[in-house]
Amino acid sequence: MTTPITSFRDLELPAPLLSALAEVGYETPSPIQAACIPHLLAGRDLLGEAQTGTGKTAAFALPALARLDLANFRPQVLVLTPTRELAIQVAEAFQKYAHHLPGFHVLPLYGGQSMVVQLRQLKRGAHVIVGTPGRIMDHLERGSLVLDGLSTLVLDEADEMLRMGFIDDVEWILEHTPAERQTALFSATMPEAIRRVAHRHLREPQEVKIRAATATVAAIRQRYWQVRGVDKLDALTRILEVEDDFDAAIVFVRTKTATVELAERLEARGYAAAALNGDMTQGLREQVIERLKNGSLDIVVATDVAARGIDVPRVSHVINYDIPYDTEAYVHRIGRTGRAGRQGTAILFVAPRETRMLKSIERATRQPIEAIALPTREAVAGRRVAQFRQQIVDTLEKEDLAFFMDVINGVEEEEGFKAHEIAAALAFLATRDRPLQIEETGRGWDVATAPQSAGRAERPPRERRDEAPARRHAFSDGQLTRYRIEVGREHGVSPKEIVGAIANEGGIEGRYIGQIHLFDDYSTVELPKALPAELLGLLKRVRVRQRPLAIRELGAAEAEALPERRRPTGGFKERAAGGERPPRKWEGGQERPRAKPSGERHGAPKPHAGKPVKRFRKD
Ligand code: ADP
Ligand code: MG
Repeated sequence: MTTPITSFRDLELPAPLLSALAEVGYETPSPIQAACIPHLLAGRDLLGEAQTGTGKTAAFALPALARLDLANFRPQVLVLTPTRELAIQVAEAFQKYAHHLPGFHVLPLYGGQSMVVQLRQLKRGAHVIVGTPGRIMDHLERGSLVLDGLSTLVLDEADEMLRMGFIDDVEWILEHTPAERQTALFSATMPEAIRRVAHRHLREPQEVKIRAATATVAAIRQRYWQVRGVDKLDALTRILEVEDDFDAAIVFVRTKTATVELAERLEARGYAAAALNGDMTQGLREQVIERLKNGSLDIVVATDVAARGIDVPRVSHVINYDIPYDTEAYVHRIGRTGRAGRQGTAILFVAPRETRMLKSIERATRQPIEAIALPTREAVAGRRVAQFRQQIVDTLEKEDLAFFMDVINGVEEEEGFKAHEIAAALAFLATRDRPLQIEETGRGWDVATAPQSAGRAERPPRERRDEAPARRHAFSDGQLTRYRIEVGREHGVSPKEIVGAIANEGGIEGRYIGQIHLFDDYSTVELPKALPAELLGLLKRVRVRQRPLAIRELGAAEAEALPERRRPTGGFKERAAGGERPPRKWEGGQERPRAKPSGERHGAPKPHAGKPVKRFRKD
């Protein structure tokens, strides 16, 4: 028996990589990393079979980085990925692990991004290129990408590239790169066609196979609900209301239309939800993922292809709203949660005639999936009461209430009511949109009520939330610029509330709302340049956390002078085309918003399905 590898140090990775790993918080190598890194460091070809979430990116990125010649700016490593999302994620991972490699440069190249931008970036040079097969082929044919100096080629998610029809392109690329290169092929499954590619293009590959039942899959609690009586949407909202550890969810449906419809219906119920599907432009999809990361969205309703490879650690739940077509898709789906060592929950909706699929999923994952009952009305109501109480306590602890005490004292003295009677009336008013007592209705009982925001302007009590706001502003394409609003961290505001207020009260779609930065007593938000005066006037009066936004556009000098400096985000058109944008992180100036659907939340901006883009064959 060999002693198990316990640290990255044992893998003999260079010191700058070890420091970067310590910073990202990886303690030990995952099994696939422990198995692959020594082979790849030694320059051998490799055939790796492992499910999603097992840490394949670092398994190939770390040895590739270890072997780089930083003084040479010609591409030395090429990673092929099936989708743009994955290309971006893999590029981000390289960047992260290379944090202490001075001058390191990685370049993602994928379809849908401007050629002009890519050509410029290619001229500048990069050590590592990560791209989708179609676009890489384009560049090789044009001569804009020269791979004479390539030493390592990685095929990531080879089975997915096969499924998407890229395998001929992949072989073409393999044939047009130096024969003496090192090649690593990673795949969740090993269909015959992939084996054939491996035989043709890999030299005596080391085979590494990690069985499906890995620690990451084990960290996912799997449950199912037998669809019966209540419709799926009601079931979903009930479940989300009572889940203890809910932070964010990806909800899987089968069709693109269903992503948009369900996201809209969730939004109408007060959830910060958006659709993610293959019809949306790359820029929009990136924005959705970014907003899920930074907490301005809690629920993304996605199709399998669009959500593939998403790695957002705060995703606590995967909901299989529509059952997947096969067990493999199921494993890929649930792999979106339980990321980075966290606990995740997967919930599967199973219609009576889908019971056989449930059984085969259990067989494939070698884990029983636990049946759950829908939360009862009492459970949901109980949860709402608990959240409401918590809100009261938080407000008492955090807010300066002197003025309000005076108002209440006045009511007490002049109207002759006791403080607890007044409090009850206020509790009634505060929870009108999301009642603590849930009533029976014709179709069982109704949880279709949106959480009310503390900052929302008064709305008539019986207004139906399912109706879209009357006005929706559209902007012709252009730049986003920063505006200042007079509510900040001191007032207890969250970015989500700001997005919600601007989207709902101003009727501005979420895609026109860019980054939000919180400062002590004000914040900045990116919106289209030169908003119409009428809209600006409206937004000035919108109240968040009891404070009028008093919004105004910042001059260039003023924006420059803000305490934090960043590169300006491009216009939304450019971004939709996937312009060069640094990966957006949760920055120091911002506060992490709370993500529960609680009583103090705004509905989110409308999801938006962008123009169809051509997919599959040529990305
Ligand atoms: P795969 O490509 O196999 O689906 P990823 O490379 O995307 O998996 O990694 C899945 C998640 O696990 C990522 O969030 C990544 O940051 C995290 N991760 C990878 N390796 C480790 C490690 N050794 N320790 C902790 N987290 C890790
Ligand atoms: Mg991967």
